[in-house]
Amino acid sequence: MSLSSLKSEIIFPYFQSIGDQDPTGAADRVAAEILKAGAGVKQVAASIQAEDLHETGLPLAIRKALATRIREDAIATIEVTTGDTRKNLRPGSFDDVIGHKDFKGLMSNAITAARKQSVPLRHILLSGPRGLGKTTLALVIANELKAKARLLVGSQLRTPVDITQEVLQWEKSSVVFIDEIHGMSKAAQETLYSVMEDGRLPLTEKRKGHQTKTSVPAPTVTIIGATTNPSKLLEPFRNRFGSKYELGFYSAEEMEKIGQRSASILGLTIEPTAIQKLVEHCRDNPRTLNEFSLQLNDMSVAQSLLSITVNHVSELLKLNGYDEQGLRPEERRYMEALKAIGGSGSLKTIAETLDMEVSEVEGTIEQWLVRKGMIRRTSKGRKIIERS
Ligand code: ADP
Repeated sequence: MSLSSLKSEIIFPYFQSIGDQDPTGAADRVAAEILKAGAGVKQVAASIQAEDLHETGLPLAIRKALATRIREDAIATIEVTTGDTRKNLRPGSFDDVIGHKDFKGLMSNAITAARKQSVPLRHILLSGPRGLGKTTLALVIANELKAKARLLVGSQLRTPVDITQEVLQWEKSSVVFIDEIHGMSKAAQETLYSVMEDGRLPLTEKRKGHQTKTSVPAPTVTIIGATTNPSKLLEPFRNRFGSKYELGFYSAEEMEKIGQRSASILGLTIEPTAIQKLVEHCRDNPRTLNEFSLQLNDMSVAQSLLSITVNHVSELLKLNGYDEQGLRPEERRYMEALKAIGGSGSLKTIAETLDMEVSEVEGTIEQWLVRKGMIRRTSKGRKIIERS
């Protein structure tokens, strides 16, 4: 990711447009926050979201534009082959992927059958909260197929022309991974759906002043879509995915295994109680767990630590803004927003107060507060659960 181009193309013009007294200084401060959010680490940057950039203080639309650019830059440069995985925490094969036993079994069979019959693997739709391993599974499937993977983000595909230009670049038998596939416009979904249905790419040709509709064969590929919100896909489009898999949360045991795996890749010695504490605070999310593992690795290198203990984990959590109750800054802000409107209110009002989208609040902040029994979802909205 080039921070300087983000600064000159998005951040600086924004501060200039609102008449900031010192747009250069403001852009520098924002750039530092972007780095703190992990945008310099390819594996983190590849799935960064607008809410991860909340600390920049920028409006949602600008954060979204930044997050999309950071993700696209990172995804375009991610290694798909296993290669040297020493510092790459993303698993490269099914054996390295923790959990998902049944899905891995189904996919192994499907991959072997597709190879034996020389037919393409059926399209796959992966759904579930972010950070649980959708990109990981997609890249592993491409690896296991020994196929090239093309990585796209749904919001890149807005018009039928985007689809045409994209399909013309596909390589036969490759895997096309579309992250946040629900970000595709309706028109783009319809065009891609027809390509998946007929195996042909519709084209409009201009001949002698007349427009003629024609079509050319589309390269046979396997499309793997990933979404946090499958209901936003058109039904016929969703139905074109022959395999669908919903990723659920990992057990504490699986999370500890992911933590141990990351620690061993990083060459980090971490006490079992320290891993447990880490797992208790990473919201059952491997992505957060890996972000913390990378930060612990920095701490270990910077302070020449021999081993990571519970105290080091406590220090790290504090540095990440966790409070005594174990709440993160955005969760505290949520609780404060709800208290400010009398302890209950609609999700839309809470999201507006937080300057976030309803789906982001619902998908990232609330889940944990509901699971911890701190708030309740009611027919009218959300309500704080008073503790006696
Ligand atoms: P998503 O695409 O759902 O947002 P990712 O696939 O980017 O999630 O996962 C985030 C990180 O968590 C990955 O880089 C990977 O290192 C780790 N991870 C996710 N799932 C697993 C798993 N099942 N086993 C091991 N590591 C995992």
